[in-house]
Amino acid sequence: TRLSEDHIKLAIQKDGRLTEDTRNLLRTVGLHFESYKQRLFSICRNFPMDILYVRDDDIAEYVAEGVVDLGIVGRNLVVESDKPVTEIMPLNYGHCSLKVAVPAESGITNIEQLSGCKVATSYPVTTSRFFQERNVDVNVITISGSVEITPALGVASAIVDLVSTGSSLRLNDLVAIDNVLDSQSVIIANRDSLVNDHKAAIIERLLTRCRGVIAASE
Ligand code: ATP
Ligand code: ZN
Repeated sequence: TRLSEDHIKLAIQKDGRLTEDTRNLLRTVGLHFESYKQRLFSICRNFPMDILYVRDDDIAEYVAEGVVDLGIVGRNLVVESDKPVTEIMPLNYGHCSLKVAVPAESGITNIEQLSGCKVATSYPVTTSRFFQERNVDVNVITISGSVEITPALGVASAIVDLVSTGSSLRLNDLVAIDNVLDSQSVIIANRDSLVNDHKAAIIERLLTRCRGVIAASE
């Protein structure tokens, strides 16, 4: 089996929080494809599309570069990547928010009080833009994981991190004081693919199938 020129390509997260819901969506809209944990791609048997399995951090870039036509990824990563891609459909799963949080005992209740402070995050682009737009001068420190422990370590006074239930904040005695971004899983498209007649027609067929399923999930 080889990837076909006539097919569009879709990148999805290989192994993570969005993987199961994404596979389920694709099956629910009627796509038939094999999936083994180790494989790098699948070919749909009944639809002109190939599915590539990648790290979620790479999806926006692959879509922007035209390595794939479509991607399914959290909006948080699309915004952070700052790549020229088009969000074409929210999928109503993977809901979370990027929030500013501080130690509960800090007494800090608004972001103006963070002026001159260190803010740790895995989302430096989005975080810097957020504080700049609000004219609050902070020192953004980029951390790749376990951001929520940095205030206890004295690394930062505040964090900007993804929150879904809030249990991770509570566990670390942190409280949210502001909202940076609301996120969910979305389909993004390469801009050239959207104006290619052949590809755009396949993309529209896929979106039509997804619309019905997503409407039913709301
Ligand atoms: P990969 O190995 O593909 O790089 P990852 O570990 O970076 O995966 P996951 O933890 O699987 O990423 O999260 C994928 C996406 O799930 C996030 O980018 C976000 O959109 C969404 N998400 C939903 N709830 C949460 C949450 N509580 N914490 C983190 N991400 C969440
Ligand atoms: Zn990732």
